[in-house]
Amino acid sequence: MKAPGEGGAADHRPVTVPRVQELGGVFLLDTQHMGYHGTVGVFVLPGPGGTFALIESGPGSTLETVLTGIREAGFEPEKLAAVLVTHIHLDHAGAAGALARRFDAEVYVHENGAGHLLEPERLLASAARIYGDQMEALWGVMEGTPQGLLRPVRDGEPLEILGHRLDVLYTPGHASHHVSYLLDKALLFTGDAAGVRLPGSSVVRPALPPPEVDLESWSRSIQAMRQLHPQALLLTHFGRVDDPEAHFRELEHWHQVWSESVLEGMRAGEDDAALAARINRLSRDALAADGASADTIERHRVTSNDEMTVMGLKRYWQKKHPERLS
Ligand SMILES: [Zn+2]
Repeated sequence: MKAPGEGGAADHRPVTVPRVQELGGVFLLDTQHMGYHGTVGVFVLPGPGGTFALIESGPGSTLETVLTGIREAGFEPEKLAAVLVTHIHLDHAGAAGALARRFDAEVYVHENGAGHLLEPERLLASAARIYGDQMEALWGVMEGTPQGLLRPVRDGEPLEILGHRLDVLYTPGHASHHVSYLLDKALLFTGDAAGVRLPGSSVVRPALPPPEVDLESWSRSIQAMRQLHPQALLLTHFGRVDDPEAHFRELEHWHQVWSESVLEGMRAGEDDAALAARINRLSRDALAADGASADTIERHRVTSNDEMTVMGLKRYWQKKHPERLS
């Protein structure tokens, strides 16, 4: 998720990320959101006879880039059969309704998120409170998904999509309606449940935006993902991770460090700018120690920015653990 005013810094040189990558049976398309490469992805799952499904839709603002990527990967957009979203946030599901209407594609989403895809007005109003007049530039238009094309799913449900087996795993923590999809018992599409890890660095960055961050249920989600023993993780932000266990350990580490640091600042009465500076420092230090370039540090920041992280964690502490604030 990105905040207003971000995108287009003077030293902004995109890393080289191809618009289409083959990742072992699936393709990863780069939405090139706001001109950044390798921050927001969409996955293509091939089916028989040129048919295909998408995992995630990307935001409304990158729909045309995604359609170009689909053609570059060798598919006709008209053969789109289904879109499976991990959750309803605009960078993951913003274009789902438009794709459904245009190509008569089914949209799979956790049952608690389905209403927001049917009628996105409340979701858009709440996003507008965060993004203000940057809404349209960042996210474009979000169309509702027709009821007849909505396929609400729940934990443990086995799906048959174009000859593939996809198991639905409920993975709340980032959002209360977040699911991950396990493809053919091997590849796990994690949405934001396994955080962010971008080309150019191996550092894992937590994705902790308001309003639903819940670190306890997130821990349980990480356990549930572990127990599937996936061969690899496929992160929407951004790409394939072949060492799931090391990745999960690092995610748990940063959840702990970032959340405790914000709590410490809140207890000391720091304002939001000071709290954001804490996150910025922790993130920069980790990336610098990993040898990341300035461009990669910037892409990390816009993908899950410091101010949103502070909003998400403050709300978490105030709502779930008010006793720890004094
Ligand atoms: Zn996201």
